[in-house]
Amino acid sequence: MRNMPAVLVVEDEPAIAELIAVNLRHNGFRPTWAMDSASAQCELDAALPDLILLDWMLPGESGLVLAKRWRAHPRTKTVPLIMLTARGDESDRVAGLDAGADDYIAKPFSTKELLARIRAVLRRRAPEPVGEAIAVGGLVLDPGTHRVSFEDQPIKLGPTEFKLLHYLLGHAERVHSRAQLLDKVWGDHVYIEERTVDVHVKRLREALGQAGPLVETVRGAGYRLTAKPVDSPAGQAAVGRLSA
Ligand code: CA
Repeated sequence: MRNMPAVLVVEDEPAIAELIAVNLRHNGFRPTWAMDSASAQCELDAALPDLILLDWMLPGESGLVLAKRWRAHPRTKTVPLIMLTARGDESDRVAGLDAGADDYIAKPFSTKELLARIRAVLRRRAPEPVGEAIAVGGLVLDPGTHRVSFEDQPIKLGPTEFKLLHYLLGHAERVHSRAQLLDKVWGDHVYIEERTVDVHVKRLREALGQAGPLVETVRGAGYRLTAKPVDSPAGQAAVGRLSA
């Protein structure tokens, strides 16, 4: 676990942003501040935070519009998001959660409550405990350093592809249905369609390059990561042996 989670605070009122930032800093977080949607987008493009605190009422695009956009975008869709708002009624709360927020805090709030909610969301969204490096068929993934390589050549993966590969490597040679992968890799994002899995598998294969064929499609069943893909010579030999 990283011990100083980065929090992007999107809030147009400097006094509130400052109060939040000071409290976050004192409690072991690394806050960055964006005062409107454009600068928030710049921050996200530069680096993904561990969590976003997003004010609903912003000049220009509202927090709700931003939440929906970030949830629809593959790069930002899994970043935990808490909405802040002066609007406390239930329909607003539902709209915020529908837009993909993990939680919702009505202003005015106590900083104690804010910190408790942030910790709760990060806990819920935390990945599996970091384990040891896993190696299958020349592919190596190290959860500690977040590094992936194939035959000693480094491979760059987005956060979702990394999680997907981590799960597949940890359960290699087994077939996983799309629903199982959604549950294990995306967790509480129950509103994500199964087709999303196909999109990320495709991306993962592309990013893996030569190691792409290790991620096999099992027709009618799902996906499997194997050290002996069927369309490689070694795999054909292995299948030949099995069927002989
Ligand atoms: Ca505001």
